[in-house]
Amino acid sequence: MTHAETHAETHAVVLGAGFAGLVTARVLADHFTAVTIVERDDWAGVGPRRGVPQGRHAHAFLAKGYEILETLYPGVTEELFQDGARHVDFLADVRFGFHGHVLTQVPTGLQALLASRPFFEGHLRRRTLALPNVRLLGDHEVTGVTTERRAVTGVRICPRGRDRERTLAADLVVDCLGRSGRSTAWLDELGFARPREERTRVDLTYASRHLRLSGTAPSGDRIVVVGAQPGRPTGLALSEQERGQWVLSLYGYGTHAPPADPEGFLEFARRLAPPDVWAVIRDAEPLDDVAVYRFAHCTRRRYDRLADLPAGMVAVGDSQCSLNPVYGAGMTSAALQALALGRCLRGMTPAMRAGKELPKHYYRASARLITQPWWFSVLGDHLLPEVPGKRLPGMALIRRHLLRMLSAAEHDGYLATAVMEAFGLVAPAHRLVAPRALMHTWRPGR
Ligand SMILES: Cc1cc2nc3c(=O)[nH]c(=O)nc-3n(C[C@H](O)[C@H](O)[C@H](O)COP(=O)(O)OP(=O)(O)OC[C@H]3O[C@@H](n4cnc5c(N)ncnc54)[C@H](O)[C@@H]3O)c2cc1C
Repeated sequence: MTHAETHAETHAVVLGAGFAGLVTARVLADHFTAVTIVERDDWAGVGPRRGVPQGRHAHAFLAKGYEILETLYPGVTEELFQDGARHVDFLADVRFGFHGHVLTQVPTGLQALLASRPFFEGHLRRRTLALPNVRLLGDHEVTGVTTERRAVTGVRICPRGRDRERTLAADLVVDCLGRSGRSTAWLDELGFARPREERTRVDLTYASRHLRLSGTAPSGDRIVVVGAQPGRPTGLALSEQERGQWVLSLYGYGTHAPPADPEGFLEFARRLAPPDVWAVIRDAEPLDDVAVYRFAHCTRRRYDRLADLPAGMVAVGDSQCSLNPVYGAGMTSAALQALALGRCLRGMTPAMRAGKELPKHYYRASARLITQPWWFSVLGDHLLPEVPGKRLPGMALIRRHLLRMLSAAEHDGYLATAVMEAFGLVAPAHRLVAPRALMHTWRPGR
């Protein structure tokens, strides 16, 4: 249903104008007569901003995310490209090293766009706010929800830095507040049980710097990823962004944090980078200071397992599931959740939307979509002995298969493509254990 087809006046309030907030507002604009996004930052749409400190670090879309963007904002990929984003094939142009194995760089047809996070966000924000029924209330802090008979009926907001709280009534409130999402606390206040939290403690530190290369890309690659491996829980991503700018992101688990001083940062990169990549980094011109971001744990809040939820509120994005950033799936996961919300709304009568049916159906549907990126994130971390925590049953077998597959994918184009399709969320994970993948992996002589 488009907003023009909606009969009664209905209002949805989206909390946070980060990636999840924008795509959710875009989806809700098809189902509500008015959508208001409330955001703490007062941002002009260009450059880094305070509320999204991770925006200084490498951000790429997985192949699935790229597909969804085009569905939600037809023509946006061409627009991003025209404005300077780099278009790549997600293997032919990407040197992807995982656990010491570099995948063979065959063309896959999996498209990706490379640009900085503020560049992506600025474009999506313009497109979302161009919708006639969406408005943004910037420079406003969300302080709480309003409730009636244990249902959420709106939000309490306050202009930033001022003591003038007011309320906004809403038929639906969507928590897109990122990792600091507040739904859990609000459930508590309303007398509902909190969702169980699944967590992997990673104690990850990122350090990043933007660069201008003095020559060409390293061996023609547009992204180089050197992933962590047992005994060396550190990694590097060098990626092209818009208009010829590059970003170098370094990371380390636990005590293996990359330093923030320029010399230490370079030395950390030198130890990780293959020789041709190091030569490019060494000769590049730094465009800013080293930015640092600390990420303690990956968290999945199991709202889908709660027997009872209040009407009028759901969570989308990192506030439901915050994945290890190393695997680059956070924005795609948020987009999948927003689409799930749209599909649920499409099949519901107004009474179902206003009641407990919507949160129940939405959390079930989105949980199914989050499972694959969540398990990739958990599995990838559990392959590293440096990451603490109880291992999954059967981990030794999974590890043996995955490492053998990655080793074979150094030369086998079918396997390398299968890995990228599953990793890019365009194919189900079980494809990696299907007969053809098993045959390619365990072929004698490998
Ligand atoms: C270092 C790093 C690298 C990453 N790299 C990638 C990548 O390559 N690919 C990828 O897909 N993902 C990546 N991610 C993950 C990605 O950044 C997140 O998954 C994504 O931003 C989630 O979007 P969100 O809208 O849920 O949260 P956010 O983008 O964090 O947005 C939350 C919004 O809520 C606002 N807000 C918070 N509190 C309030 C309040 N009280 N009142 C009003 N507004 C408020 C904030 O200002 C912000 O705008 C990375 C993350 C990190 C940390």
